[in-house]
Amino acid sequence: MPTIREQLEQRELMMLVPQAARSAETRGRLRPEAEDDLRPAFQRDRDRIIHCKAFRRLKHKTQVFFAPAGDHYRTRLTHTLEVSQIARTIAKALWLHEDLTEAIALGHDLGHAPFGHHGERVLNELMPGGFNHYEQSLRVVDVLERDGRGLNLTWETRDGIAKHSKGKLGVPVGTDSSDRAATLEGQIVRISDLIAYVNHDIDDATRAGVLQESDLPKTSVRVLGETSSRRIGRMVGDVIFETRRLQLREIRMTGEVLDETLALRQFLFRAVYENEVSTAEFRKAGDILGALWTKVRERPLDFLDHRTVQAEGPDVAARDFLAGMTDRYAVGLFARLFIPKPWVDMHRALEEWTE
Ligand code: MG
Repeated sequence: MPTIREQLEQRELMMLVPQAARSAETRGRLRPEAEDDLRPAFQRDRDRIIHCKAFRRLKHKTQVFFAPAGDHYRTRLTHTLEVSQIARTIAKALWLHEDLTEAIALGHDLGHAPFGHHGERVLNELMPGGFNHYEQSLRVVDVLERDGRGLNLTWETRDGIAKHSKGKLGVPVGTDSSDRAATLEGQIVRISDLIAYVNHDIDDATRAGVLQESDLPKTSVRVLGETSSRRIGRMVGDVIFETRRLQLREIRMTGEVLDETLALRQFLFRAVYENEVSTAEFRKAGDILGALWTKVRERPLDFLDHRTVQAEGPDVAARDFLAGMTDRYAVGLFARLFIPKPWVDMHRALEEWTE
């Protein structure tokens, strides 16, 4: 009698297109381990990510707006869930592997620094050799979770996480094969990340009064639609039909929709991400990270993981510590280390940080 997992693997073989990844054909995990009786390999990856600590910390990491007063702004966690929703819609429509797609989507930003992209820029300047969140996401799942043992995910999930972004100037589809995820599921997450943030960042920036819908580039609005909902629908549909037209050789968008999507991203960089007013608080946040970087490296034994300090040096250990912080943890630790005690009321936030 086959196990439930074997039956589900069989169902994948019957249901999914030949171009889909298949759990039973995974290239395997970093360390071999016995298969589960109930869940195929990619489903298990997804579950491990949901249960890990870095995933829960996404709740308190900035997406774009620093410690927003309103409850309706995105956080890194709700961004991740929106990416997952968009990516699964595309995967399902193309008969690709939804669980693998979801695992990559839920894991893609686990290595994100506090204070959004500003935090990433600051860490990039502080860390010899630089810093980027997609490499750190892979380090979280490979090494940092479970007290240094990592989540031991499959090769396909790890590849998708490592290749989900190339930053500000990266193109999400149609890149060289060495630059994109090996699976179509991984490629879906990369374009879904862009679709999600371009649209929800416009929504949040509008909510914050940083821009108005009428400020958006006219051609983009004409091609993509007048509301977030329409634009997401247009982009998602375009990915599905263009990828099908090209017989699933790789995940693609039509030139017209891609150009206007990138135009919106460029507009957001100018109007929001790098706007003087909206980044004013982030400059202070950058100073906080800079001060913490100096302090924890002065006293590595008090703050940093001893094994990492010994094996890879204080810079790597400090990077892991700072990148793992939530916004409020970084602010709380700064207050504890630099501001005389009677002035602060942030100890409780610090105590909530449990190992
Ligand atoms: Mg993302």
